[in-house]
Amino acid sequence: MTDTGSTNRLDKLKALRMSYHDNLPRRMMEIESSWLSLLAGNVSSDVRHVFHRLVHSLAGSAGTFGYDEISQKARQLEHVIQRMIENNLSLSDDLVVQVATNLTELKQIANSDANTVKSLTTNTESMNEVTAKATTLFSEESSSTSRLIFVVEDDDAIAEEIAVQLNIFGWEIRTFTTIQDVYKALQIDTPAAVIADIMLSEGGLAGAEFIRDLKHNAQQIKLPTVVISSRWDWDSRLAAVRAGVDAYYVKPIDFSALAERLDVLVYPPTDEPFRVLIVEDEDILAAHYAEVLTQANMYVRTALDPADVLETLNDFEPELLLLDLYMPSCNGTEMAQVIRQDNKFNDLPIVFLSTESGRQLQLAAMQSGADDFLQKPITNNELIAAVTIRAARFRALRQLIRQDSMTGLLNHIALKLQLEIEISRHQRSGEVLSVVMLDIDKFKSVNDLYGHPMGDRVIKSLAQLLRKRLRKTDIIGRYGGEEFAVVMASTKQEEAVSVMNKIREQFAKIRHANGEQECICTFSAGVSAFPAFTTVSTLIEASDTALYQAKFQGRNQVCVQNPEAKD
Ligand code: GH3
Ligand code: MG
Ligand code: MG
Ligand code: MG
Repeated sequence: MTDTGSTNRLDKLKALRMSYHDNLPRRMMEIESSWLSLLAGNVSSDVRHVFHRLVHSLAGSAGTFGYDEISQKARQLEHVIQRMIENNLSLSDDLVVQVATNLTELKQIANSDANTVKSLTTNTESMNEVTAKATTLFSEESSSTSRLIFVVEDDDAIAEEIAVQLNIFGWEIRTFTTIQDVYKALQIDTPAAVIADIMLSEGGLAGAEFIRDLKHNAQQIKLPTVVISSRWDWDSRLAAVRAGVDAYYVKPIDFSALAERLDVLVYPPTDEPFRVLIVEDEDILAAHYAEVLTQANMYVRTALDPADVLETLNDFEPELLLLDLYMPSCNGTEMAQVIRQDNKFNDLPIVFLSTESGRQLQLAAMQSGADDFLQKPITNNELIAAVTIRAARFRALRQLIRQDSMTGLLNHIALKLQLEIEISRHQRSGEVLSVVMLDIDKFKSVNDLYGHPMGDRVIKSLAQLLRKRLRKTDIIGRYGGEEFAVVMASTKQEEAVSVMNKIREQFAKIRHANGEQECICTFSAGVSAFPAFTTVSTLIEASDTALYQAKFQGRNQVCVQNPEAKD
């Protein structure tokens, strides 16, 4: 991330603060005019509540933007108004004096230049803190890494095989027969990784020595390196370790395992940003929280209107909900209860943000299904920490529950849940969605002929190929033993068939290796689409019928199922 990036982000927070500052006189005027309206004899409960809400919002938001004194004074005033409302007190002289005194003091603080200047400096400090954190979080972002891999292999046939196989998994291969040639090429291009045969015409351990020398060069020190070898022996493995090689594969190479390893080496798993939904009726506060969390590398959406929340939960799939407790149209406790009515959102962390400090209210909020209660004003760092801890915990638990441990894909239940979410999303957008069921052909004979570990290898290899070849928006699950399901978002049935046919052809070319043995496999697939079929069960059933037909017609093919074809 460049300096310009962090300056822009800093500017955004500053702009929000300035806009809050510019709006302070308007807020004060609104508060004053509702007070005047009460004094003029308009003591209906509506006017009291508006007066209370305006003061309450000021108490909550002023602190966030650094106006601590205003926030404290507004809170004192709020308590007076609260007592008035709770006890249904008429405006006695005593009460008028209390409110008026507090209000006057509040206005004085708000108008004082000294306060403004002081608050702006305090905030610049805390902003810098956040920006520094954001900069470190962003700085490791890599630019788009190349897919190019250099392979040093003196046996032409093996070099060709590596090129073909790794190409299936999306890598671009350039092969070299001598170390001298690869050095020349390295001066011009920077590959994503280097693979070297350990035994080259230059010597029995020449590949390892080449990598050792390469790693001595400061520019190449981080370049991922892999050694391939027909040698199992201790000496060559030790030579590879000493050379600083990242991985060692014995021939015949298990290409899906190699491809998987290259993926991890070239794209070290960086954590996906957390997804946070903020529901807050005060738009400037919502924008402020959003900016702070965005700067801490999170994806943030805000909903100002509670009525939009259920739809946003479905669309955005947040990992945490930051909920304002006090909103005019519905309070946060009610909203938490509505959200918890849906089983899908049972475990979504809900964190309340509010000015309320009363134990009773906090307790009531927690009983409505909230996980935590943060009191406004909250510092930027506290907000980031509170959100990160809970979202990370939610993500870890969900992963444990949803993932198939062998392939890392979604498991049966999670896939169906995800399909349900996708159906309602596509219902709203009016787009087509395709569902694919896919089953490895004659898999039993793979186990019988080569043993269970080879079978496992083939399953992992198909999982890896699907992950590589499908889009990020597609949902992939291991549905059962050697059966997979794919949900292709915004994809017509014919498009899904064409994509699956390409993957099917690629899969048939993979040479699966386990120890000395190698084998080749195919799969069959069935495709159905929404809205031709409208529910999770009918979609899966239709795809299953099509899959059965593909098996019946001779396997290694993709069939479709349409509603007309049913009796
Ligand atoms: P078809 O082409 O009709 O699909 O034939 P098939 O042999 O693939 O189908 P069948 O359902 O008869 O056999 C599936 C086999 O998959 C049976 C089961 O032992 C094996 N299997 C299921 N899960 C795993 C697994 O995790 N690892 C391995 N190695 N084998 C598995
Ligand atoms: Mg509010
Ligand atoms: Mg099968
Ligand atoms: Mg099966």
